[in-house]
Amino acid sequence: MDHAPQPSPADPQPVHASDAPATSGTASAGRRRNPLSHRSQDDRFRALVHHSLDAIVVSDPNNVITYVTPAIERLFGYPPEGLIGTSGFAFVHPDDRAASIEAARALLTRPGSASLQTFRLRHVDGSFRWVECTSVNLLDHEHVQGILNTFRDVTERKEADDRIRASEERLQALLANDDGAILVLDQAGVVQWASPTAERLWGLEPASLWSATMSRLVHPDDRREVSRQFARVVDESSHATARVEARMAHGDGSWRWFESTFANCLDTPSIHGIVANVRDTTDRVISEQALRDSEHRLEHQATHDPLTDLPNRTLLFDRMEVALARARRNATLTAVLFCDLDHFKVVNDSQGHSLGDALLVAVAARLRDALRPGDTIARFGGDEFVILVEDLHDEHETTAVAHLVEQTLRAPFALAGGDVYVTASIGISHAQDGEPGAEALIRNADSAMYQAKARGRARAEVFDDAMRARAVERHQIETSLRRAVSRRQLRVHYQPMIDLHTGHIVGSEALVRWKHPTRGMLYPATFMSIAEETGLIVPLGAWIFDQACLQTARWEQQRGGDVFIAINLSASQLDDLSLTDDIASVLAATRINPGHVHVEITESVLMHDVDASREVLDRLKILGVRIAIDDFGTGYSSFSHLRRFPVDILKIAQSFVQGLGADSEADAIVQAIINLGHTLGLVVVAEGVETAQQLDELRTHDCDMAQGYLISRAVPPERLGELLRADVSPARAVSGRT
Ligand code: C2E
Ligand code: CA
Ligand code: CA
Repeated sequence: MDHAPQPSPADPQPVHASDAPATSGTASAGRRRNPLSHRSQDDRFRALVHHSLDAIVVSDPNNVITYVTPAIERLFGYPPEGLIGTSGFAFVHPDDRAASIEAARALLTRPGSASLQTFRLRHVDGSFRWVECTSVNLLDHEHVQGILNTFRDVTERKEADDRIRASEERLQALLANDDGAILVLDQAGVVQWASPTAERLWGLEPASLWSATMSRLVHPDDRREVSRQFARVVDESSHATARVEARMAHGDGSWRWFESTFANCLDTPSIHGIVANVRDTTDRVISEQALRDSEHRLEHQATHDPLTDLPNRTLLFDRMEVALARARRNATLTAVLFCDLDHFKVVNDSQGHSLGDALLVAVAARLRDALRPGDTIARFGGDEFVILVEDLHDEHETTAVAHLVEQTLRAPFALAGGDVYVTASIGISHAQDGEPGAEALIRNADSAMYQAKARGRARAEVFDDAMRARAVERHQIETSLRRAVSRRQLRVHYQPMIDLHTGHIVGSEALVRWKHPTRGMLYPATFMSIAEETGLIVPLGAWIFDQACLQTARWEQQRGGDVFIAINLSASQLDDLSLTDDIASVLAATRINPGHVHVEITESVLMHDVDASREVLDRLKILGVRIAIDDFGTGYSSFSHLRRFPVDILKIAQSFVQGLGADSEADAIVQAIINLGHTLGLVVVAEGVETAQQLDELRTHDCDMAQGYLISRAVPPERLGELLRADVSPARAVSGRT
C-alpha cells in the first residue's frame, strides 16, 4: 500500500448505482436516499471516501455491486463505473470463492453482523492481490441497504508473512532433521528451549528436558569441565564460544558422549541465552578409544615381556634413562639389582620348559607384589630380573631391597611337579647423581651378580672398587685382544702327548699364549672367557687352527711320519656356521691328513644342546677329522649320548687324573672312564699328568695316551720340534683301538 498513489481531489468521484448512466432514471431517488442531506456533511463524507486508502464497495444481498469508491481503481485497476452491477464474486480467486460465498451467506443471516476475510482478488492486469475484506450487513440500514465491504490490499504483508512462515518451516525442518540438537539455556544453565531433535538425542520426554539444568544431565566426572566451559562463555563477551565433550545421561539409562558447543547469545534479541549445539559423538569417541586401546596394546607388547608381563629390556632402559636424568638434576642415588635365579636351568631341564615358564611367572608375580609401586622390575632375559630403585638415601637401602627379594623367594613355589625352592644371586650397582649411565649401571650389576655366583650363589654382592678394577681390566684386555693378532702378540704353544704303550710322542695339543706388551705372557684363563663373550674367539680360533695345522704339516715333513695335532674348539666356534668350511680349506691348503687333526670339545659344551652338537659333530666327521671330548667326567654326559655322538677320543679331566693314587674314588672313576671309552671303541687320553705315580696308575688301568707337566709343559714350536727329533722312533698315530 505504501507505493499506492496518494489520492488527489482530481481523482474520480465515488460511483453509486444511481449515478451510472444505465440507471440515470433513478438518480433523483438515489440523491433522495442520501443520508447526508446537509451540504457540508455530504462534502465531508465525499472527502473521507475520496481520501480513504481502502476501497469501499456496497453490494446487494446477491453480491451485485451497487456502489464503489474511486480507490478501487487504485487498488485493482478497474474503473469504478464498469463494476456497478457486476457480481463481486467474479473477481475472487477461484480457490477462495467458495469460502467467500459461504461467508457472505452467513453474513446475510445476521443483519448488523460483520465478518473479516482474507482472500485474493483479480487485478485488471490478471494478477491476484491479497485483500482483507471487512463486510458489514447493513441491509437493514435505512441509508445503506446493502452489504458494506471495505477492501484493503494486504498483498505485501501477506507475502512477508508467507516468507516468514516459510523460513520458519524451513528452520523447523532443519532442526527436525539435524542429528544434533539445539538448546537455549539461561545463564544458570537451565534449559529454556529445546529443538525437537533434543528428545531423540537424549531419549527423554521433552518435558523432562525443559527447565532441567544442563549439568544435571552430565556425568559427575565431566561436570566440572562442562561447568567451567559454560561459565567461560557466560562471562565472556557476546558471541564467545566453547566446545566441550562430556558424557550425558541418556533416557535409556546409559551414558553417551555428547559434544556441546556453547555460544553466548545473551545479547541476541529473541534468544537472550546461551545456545548449546549438541551432538552425540559416542560412536566417534568409542572408535577413538578402540584405536587408542589398540595402540596402547601394541605399545605394551613392544615394551613388555610376553611371559611375565613385566617391562622388558627396552622399557627398562627407557625408565633408567629417565630415572638417571632425574637423579642428575636432583643429585640423588639410584640403584640397580641384577637378580639371576640359581640353578634355574636344572628346573628347566629336569621338569620341562612349561614348568620353567610357570616358575618364572610365579617369581615375577611375587617380586612385583613385594616391591614398592614406584620401583621398576623388568625381565632382562631368561631367568634374569632387574630391579630399578630410585631416590635412595644411602646404599643400605639397596641392601634392604636385596633382602626383601631373598625373603620373597624363600617360600617354596608350588608347581605342577611339586614344590620348588628358588634362590637368586643378586648383583647391585649404584649411580650417584645419574652417573654412570644406564649401560654401565647394568654391566656393573651384572659383574656383581657373577661375583655372587662365584661366592656360592643365593647371595647379594655390591659392585665395588675391586670389581670396578677387574671390570676395567677386562675392558682393557678386550680392547687390546682385538689388536693382538695383527700385532703378532699371539703364539701357539704345543704340549706333547705320548703313547702309554710305547712312550713315544704321538702328537701335541695346540694351546694359545698371549705375549702381552706390558703384562708379559698371558694364559688362556685371563683372556679366553673375554674372547668367548665378545665373539673374538671366532677369528682368533681360525688363526690358531691355521697356525697349528701349518706347524704340524712342517713336523710331518721333517719327521717323515705321523704326528697329530689336537686343537680346542669353544662354544662360539661351534655355533659359527662357517666352521666346517674354514677347516676344510685349512686342510686343503696344508695338505695335512684330516685324520691327524683332532678337535677337542669340552663335555659341557657338547651337552649344552645335544641335538645341535650332534649336527656339528656329524659335519666335522664328514671332513675326516677326529673328535675328542675334552675334560670328560665333569659335564654329566650320559652313556646314550656318548654312543650317538661320532666321537673318537675321551680326554679324562685333570681333576680325576690328579687324584690318582691318593684318592680311591678318583682311581675308580678313572678306571671306569677308561673301561667305558674302550667299550665304545674310543681312545682314552689322560691329561694333567704331573707325577710318575699317576703315570704308573694310568698304565695299570690300560689308558692309551698321556699328557701333562710330567712329560712336558706346552712349549714353543721350535722346542717341540727338538723333542720330536729326540724322540727317535716315530710313534703310531691314534687310529682307534682294534
Ligand atoms: P684344556 O683344553 O683342558 O687344556 C689343558 C690345560 O691344562 C692347558 O692350560 C695346559 O697348559 C694345562 N696343563 C697341561 N698339563 C698340565 C699339568 O700337568 N698340570 C696342570 N695343572 N695343568 C696342565 P692352558 O693352556 O692354560 O689352557 C686352558 C684352557 O684354555 C684349555 O683347557 C682350553 O680349554 C683353553 N684353550 C687353550 N688354548 C686354546 C685354543 O687355542 N682355542 C680354544 N678354543 N681354547 C683354548
Ligand atoms: Ca684341550
Ligand atoms: Ca682338558
